[in-house]
Amino acid sequence: MLIERLWAANSLRNFHYLIACRETGEALIVDPLNADQCLAAARTRGLSIRFILNTHEHRDHTDGNAGVVAATHSKVLAHAGAASVIGGVDRGLSRGDIIQVGRTVELEVLDTPGHTRSHVCLLAHGDSPALFCGDTLFNAGAGNCHNGGDPGLLYETFVNQLAKLPDTTRVYPGHEYMARNLAFTLDREPGNAEAARALEAAKATTPEVARVTTLGEEKRVNAFLRLQNPEVIARLRERFPEIGEKPDARTVFVKLRELRNSW
Ligand SMILES: [Zn+2]
Ligand SMILES: [Zn+2]
Repeated sequence: MLIERLWAANSLRNFHYLIACRETGEALIVDPLNADQCLAAARTRGLSIRFILNTHEHRDHTDGNAGVVAATHSKVLAHAGAASVIGGVDRGLSRGDIIQVGRTVELEVLDTPGHTRSHVCLLAHGDSPALFCGDTLFNAGAGNCHNGGDPGLLYETFVNQLAKLPDTTRVYPGHEYMARNLAFTLDREPGNAEAARALEAAKATTPEVARVTTLGEEKRVNAFLRLQNPEVIARLRERFPEIGEKPDARTVFVKLRELRNSW
């Protein structure tokens, strides 16, 4: 499986992804925003885009659909619940569906609500699994819930689905927010030495070549995956004394998300 990450160089800091079968050159594009950029990237690499996958309905993840369809006649795939909002969807997706690209690529659909109610992540299994997680999980962070989302649902998606994937899973989010999110982790957990090192490294790089993390690393540097950490809880209690000494993980997650909204 070939994975090409394309940096959109916009103020929202979007990533697009080309996922392709190395044998046939057939490809799927995740969350096209800049259609011309996606088409040029496929052309340069000798790939034919057959599918568009929108992780959710927000415009910064769908605006390139029309341009890519016009040029490639590719099929548009999206969560069945988001299809009517996105428009032009050829196949509505549900949990457990498999998307086949060429001969060698199989992607499992995860139903991952929270950022919006109808959000999918794609999971490629194998020795080196890969997760295309849109606006649910970010490097060292979590998606916001401002536009149709629900932090309680996002918590359940994190704990019941994403955190259970293998630690070797590579994480391919919809936006590049690594440095900002690591700074938030350190604000919540100043003693996290690995997050401090990762922040220095992130500051010294550019989005085009930003590091791809694994889920194992995320569990060490992402506050939203460190809900039992004593320092995270103690710092949170300073701000929200009402959560008590032993808040449950859901409360910690929701309060962290609330803090991050205005941080
Ligand atoms: Zn979004
Ligand atoms: Zn987005």
